[in-house]
Amino acid sequence: MKVKSIRGFHDILPENIKRWHLIEDAAKYIFELYGFSEIRIPVLEFTDVFARSLGTTTDIVEKEMYTFTDRDGSSLTLRPEGTAGVVRAYIEDSMHAKSSISKLYYTGMMFRHERPQKGRFRGFYQIGAELIGPEEPASDAELVAMLWRFFEEIDLTQFLELEISSLGDQNCRPQYKEKLVGYFSPQKNELCEDCQRRLETNPLRILDCKQKRCKEIAADAPSMLDNLCEDCENHFDSVKENLDSVGIPYKINPKIVRGLDYYTRTVFEITTDQLGSQNAVAAGGRYDGLVNELGGPATAAVGFAMGIERIILLQEIALPEGFGKDVNVFIAHLGDEARQAAFTLAFNLRNKGISVETDYATKSLKSQMKRADKLGASYTFIIGEDELKKAVIKVRDMKESSEEDIKLEDIINSSDKFKS
Ligand code: ATP
Ligand code: MG
Repeated sequence: MKVKSIRGFHDILPENIKRWHLIEDAAKYIFELYGFSEIRIPVLEFTDVFARSLGTTTDIVEKEMYTFTDRDGSSLTLRPEGTAGVVRAYIEDSMHAKSSISKLYYTGMMFRHERPQKGRFRGFYQIGAELIGPEEPASDAELVAMLWRFFEEIDLTQFLELEISSLGDQNCRPQYKEKLVGYFSPQKNELCEDCQRRLETNPLRILDCKQKRCKEIAADAPSMLDNLCEDCENHFDSVKENLDSVGIPYKINPKIVRGLDYYTRTVFEITTDQLGSQNAVAAGGRYDGLVNELGGPATAAVGFAMGIERIILLQEIALPEGFGKDVNVFIAHLGDEARQAAFTLAFNLRNKGISVETDYATKSLKSQMKRADKLGASYTFIIGEDELKKAVIKVRDMKESSEEDIKLEDIINSSDKFKS
């Protein structure tokens, strides 16, 4: 029997990796412009790190975590998201003592035991950023602007919408929760089973339910935005003003609740209408209580995470054919002597930063041209007996379908022109 991968886990194959690199490189580029540094944290943490930060009534903690008992009896969990671990590291490494502002980003695999479908895996990748320290609304706005700039950088904003809202804080949210319970309770029997439970444990999450009847009932529910205290209202206004001042387009959606307990005030999502019900590409918000909750000093923070697989799905729509083929030069050779010449030339061109492919064996010109095509080479160099004699290379521009003989030494000396 053949070995196989675990359901919900997937390989990222070399033919697709260029898409991943484009996304990761753009994130690194944009995030570093905004002063963020990468942090790498373990994939495995004590279960407590997640249970305490996400809250015990969230989907993730209730049913999605990969948790097991270690040999010494301690409960460990594969990270289902990045924020909890970053905050754990922030506290453990006393980052607050080194600087009043920490700007961190991460990328890596997350694990959630949910039903696999398009855009939803059990092992998937996220890139996320956390801005820890400032409580001012300019920090929320800067983070959101950075996220939008990232999507502009990879040309996907045509498919995307930025939605923002505020969840209030410990002053106004408890009263709002009560109002919600008051609104939903008389209609409790019409809610789905999950929502009937949520009514007791986490009533805000009813607003976010995907069931048709729950959605209908939630449509007329009181809105958090009408129930913000003055401080939260001012904060939200200021976030919007900052976004307006740099022309970041957003829509206000008071139904964004986020699954996690730790959010306060600003919440946001980047959504798409291209991926069915897996419509959230990125999500985040402010979580002023979390650092303290995990045993650190009271510290404000705001962050987001995005799902790379979902971004890849959008990218496949935006940039379909031939994407990521970037062999500069393919060297075709005819005969043993030519093969030897090709080997040396390939070595020398690679030393000059040109990506080169060539065949190891001697094959027909036809089969070599086929491979050059498949690799998407921009140029094919042909070395035959004639060329060897004249110390030239037949250079075929694959886009223009034109050919010319160029002296070998000229190729080496002006190799830069083959870089694209
Ligand atoms: P959803 O509502 O789709 O379940 P979520 O609220 O659970 O998303 P977050 O915990 O906010 O998602 O994670 C941030 C992002 O990570 C999501 O917007 C999504 O792009 C991605 N993501 C979450 N779960 C998965 C998954 N199982 N497979 C692939 N990507 C995911
Ligand atoms: Mg989820």
